[in-house]
Amino acid sequence: MKSPDFRGLPSLYLEPNQLIHVDKPTVISTILGSCVALTVHHPKTCFGVMCHCLLSRCPMKKNQQQNDENSTTTCEQECFRFVECTVPHILEMCASRGYTLESLNFKLFGGSELFTNRGFGPDESASSPSVGSANVSLMKTLLKQHGIKLKACNVGGMEGRKIFFYTDTGEVLMRKINNTRQTGHLCRINSQHQ
Ligand SMILES: [Zn+2]
Repeated sequence: MKSPDFRGLPSLYLEPNQLIHVDKPTVISTILGSCVALTVHHPKTCFGVMCHCLLSRCPMKKNQQQNDENSTTTCEQECFRFVECTVPHILEMCASRGYTLESLNFKLFGGSELFTNRGFGPDESASSPSVGSANVSLMKTLLKQHGIKLKACNVGGMEGRKIFFYTDTGEVLMRKINNTRQTGHLCRINSQHQ
């Protein structure tokens, strides 16, 4: 798969269940199926964050709440596998660096219908949401709770995505990936979709 022009910037590949944050011009890339990636960028600096979450709800957090209703801690210090734990962690990271939410640009990608919940778990039903749509839905809910509006959003559908996040400009380039491993054209995701 041919990469876009990195303009000489260093590049980092973001693995599933991980988070990368940088303060210098970098291209961060990742490949998404039903997973979701949130990018956060400060337009006047090169501060950029990208996460790659596999699932929406964290089972550890649920257990903890059952055991101790007063507990407000997340399951682990660094849990980036689940949207539920990752979003608060990112918002804390931004606040601790002095960035107000209004000064940051948030973009959301992924959540395609590559896997479904059907056949797994107790609430197996035709109407149970897919992993991808559950990921997107919780991400949007948590962001909305903090008054965050997405600057760009490209989610859902039946194809995977490869995205490239430029932390100098905040620009995100995206290529759709289908089952036959043929790759689509690279496009620039600037506007609000879906
Ligand atoms: Zn967790």
